[in-house]
Amino acid sequence: MRLILLGAPGAGKGTVAKLLTAIDGSVQISTGDILRGAVKAGTALGKKADAFMKAGDLVPDDLIMGIMEERLQEADCASGFLLDGFPRTIPQAEALDALLTRLNIQLDFVVSLDVPHEVILDRLTTRRTCSNSACQEIYNVKSKPTKVEGVCDKCGSPVIQRDDETEAAISKRLDTYNEKTAPLADFYAKLGNLLNINTTSSEVVVAAITEKLGR
Ligand code: ADP
Repeated sequence: MRLILLGAPGAGKGTVAKLLTAIDGSVQISTGDILRGAVKAGTALGKKADAFMKAGDLVPDDLIMGIMEERLQEADCASGFLLDGFPRTIPQAEALDALLTRLNIQLDFVVSLDVPHEVILDRLTTRRTCSNSACQEIYNVKSKPTKVEGVCDKCGSPVIQRDDETEAAISKRLDTYNEKTAPLADFYAKLGNLLNINTTSSEVVVAAITEKLGR
């Protein structure tokens, strides 16, 4: 499958993407994970992205398009991909459209996850992430705690609260989302390829997607 997952931070894009990859071997492409990996590794990209991310601001479109142009041409994308956290602005969506045409890739459709604001806030403040950039497993102190407090079940690295998961940065990210990213749902609805899903259950989301894919 080749899908775009839209939704506010904390809407469950990452969780849904992981469940979908298990179905047909398509890969999850999270620009947030790629950027956090680059910051941790101290690459040129990471150095440029770091301050924007800490403040809860978007990283400039040209950096993101550079990442995606390379990523979509890697061999593993041949079995399908789930775009998680990209595109995030109308210019990114337009540039993606041109890029996919150039690469001769056709998307199935775009999924928009609609989750109430209170649920989002609660999820983000209780979210914890594995600090190992090769892992980045997500936990939640209420709904999905680690077996041993502060230690990743999968790789044993420390599990931390992300730098952009302070209350101030979260509220900035949600404002940025409403201003820059929420309009993308309309953008894709007008193109006739939007599936809107209104639930807090990732399993229900996955069922709606597989049904629409006809599987
Ligand atoms: P979330 O969806 O939980 O906000 P992400 O992991 O997707 O988190 O992104 C974290 C940060 O990385 C964003 O706040 C932003 O600074 C940057 N980022 C990720 N993807 C993009 C993108 N497509 N365009 C611009 N900035 C991005």
